[in-house]
Amino acid sequence: MTDASYQKCINPNCGAEFDCGQAMFKCPSCGELLDIRYNWDEIYVPSKMSEFAKRWATRDNPLDFSGVWRFRELLNYCEDENKVTIGEGQTILQQNDAVAEYVDMETGCLFLQYEGLNPSGSFKDNGMTAAFSHAKMVGATSSACASTGNTSASVALYAHSCGIKCTVFIGSGRIAFGKLSQAMDYGAQTIQILGDFDDCMRQVQDVCTKLGLYLLNSLNPFRLEGQKAIMYRIIEGLGWEVPDWIIVPGGNLGNSSAFGKAFSELKQLGLIDHVPRMAIINATGADTLTDLVNNKKLTWNDGHVDQAIIDNYYADLTARNFSPHTCASAIEISRPVNLKKCLRAIDICDGVVRAVTDEEILDAKALIGKHGLGCEPASAATIAGLKHLRAEGLIDADQRVACVLTGHALKDPDRTVNYHKDKQGKLSNPPIEASNDLDEILKLIK
Ligand SMILES: *Cc1c(COP(=O)(O)O)cnc(C)c1O
Ligand SMILES: [Zn+2]
Repeated sequence: MTDASYQKCINPNCGAEFDCGQAMFKCPSCGELLDIRYNWDEIYVPSKMSEFAKRWATRDNPLDFSGVWRFRELLNYCEDENKVTIGEGQTILQQNDAVAEYVDMETGCLFLQYEGLNPSGSFKDNGMTAAFSHAKMVGATSSACASTGNTSASVALYAHSCGIKCTVFIGSGRIAFGKLSQAMDYGAQTIQILGDFDDCMRQVQDVCTKLGLYLLNSLNPFRLEGQKAIMYRIIEGLGWEVPDWIIVPGGNLGNSSAFGKAFSELKQLGLIDHVPRMAIINATGADTLTDLVNNKKLTWNDGHVDQAIIDNYYADLTARNFSPHTCASAIEISRPVNLKKCLRAIDICDGVVRAVTDEEILDAKALIGKHGLGCEPASAATIAGLKHLRAEGLIDADQRVACVLTGHALKDPDRTVNYHKDKQGKLSNPPIEASNDLDEILKLIK
């Protein structure tokens, strides 16, 4: 634990503070989310972002190699000896002009941040390296999470790299096959609950409280500290410049919350001169954030969020027995746990929220596959959302946009195969059947 960090409740009427040596995940006084805060005056922070580039020269040190910990001054809550790393964050920011053309943007303006290149194949590893470091710091021996899939894959991988036991809860039938295969292969105790993600989330919180397990959902504020590094790497990829827009899929809203916090801190530290705008993209079948922000006009309001709007909304979901449905299983969530922090991020980044259909998501996914390195459905919501925002004229063709591609193409092979084989969309590329005959095969090849 470092002296310069502490946990603080985000509720301005409470504001309770705790040291970082405790694992609580929700304010014990009022039940709100907790933030990690720093006394920046007591921390050495480089005077320019570009100073971090020096760490490339010393990357034989695993902490300097890590795409999270080489920015460690910006998430300074833990001594080096407790830090857990398996080489996360070796991701790339790819300028993609072919995809830019599809969304009617100028050459050189669209960038794809490939978080699928992480060890477990999703951005979640950025958060797990941070959270497991905290888990080690507090001496945890057992951990748990609820998951739409990628959290469980990442938890399982990190848990075993640092000798902590793990149990993962998944909604039965709601998980993409690539992800389920990882949880089992990495040796997690996997519990399939007859229900959706929101049901798993409720159960895991009670299980953690009753059994004293370390919780690894994005309720965990230390996870979000690690996810800030995705933004540091985008800035790095742009030669230490800030883009005009960040676009991110919205599920449990941990990423969007972390990104807003990252930019607010960088601005406060004078490391960037402006904060980019942010667009958060839901799927239409799981669009709680879109509905609450665009229709119910829910805002951060300096921390005084109108709780009645949220309570009424969730009561209605319960009354209707609503369960979210989208092909993008990673964002199939109707009660996002980081909702309030996300509202704060929208406030910081002058953010907007949109929802896109499954059809738009799958076409965008095929496009990213054809012209980029591929991604899973939830990640492709960013490009589908960007297309909307270009059509509305909210984003200009010559602005610089970075889309966060959150997960790897191989995570959800079923969706990909069905899209192509069953000709489900504009970019379907089905296999051609041929008899085992050379002349016929020769005729088929174009
Ligand atoms: C977890 C996940 C998301 C959702 O991110 P949140 O931070 O929960 O909003 C999106 N895409 C992929 C691939 C994920 O694994
Ligand atoms: Zn509180």
